[in-house]
Amino acid sequence: MSDLRSLYQELILDHGKSPRNFGKLADANRRASGNNPLCGDKLTLYLRVEDDVVRDVRFEGSGCAISTASASMLTQAIKGRTTQAVAALFDRFHALVTGGESTSGADAPELGKLEVFAGVREFPVRVKCATLVWHTLVHALEHDGGEVTTE
Ligand code: ZN
Repeated sequence: MSDLRSLYQELILDHGKSPRNFGKLADANRRASGNNPLCGDKLTLYLRVEDDVVRDVRFEGSGCAISTASASMLTQAIKGRTTQAVAALFDRFHALVTGGESTSGADAPELGKLEVFAGVREFPVRVKCATLVWHTLVHALEHDGGEVTTE
């Protein structure tokens, strides 16, 4: 179990240090910013959505390793998915990090590598770091523009 735990920590540290899909997305048609003042995490998410499918996604900003890793891994997890599948994935992720029940059903996408964030459940402050980018994503898809704050 401790081996598994250190593997998880390595994955978070790796994505925190070298975030994937980092930077602006020139042809984005959805965007939103997220702010977690409790920790100092700030990020902006850019998406190109066509025919209800996330064709491309990038983010920029600065924050702790957990918020950066969560954003980095989110971009990998949602690219190519329908907005409906993305919503189901968010539901599963939220249940994972809060210890709640997922209501998204059996046909929801698997969390895969995102399961490394299960450990934040024990640290309520860190739950905000891990979910910031997801709340920002939901806001971007529903409203396009604006800022989400955890406080
Ligand atoms: Zn943070």
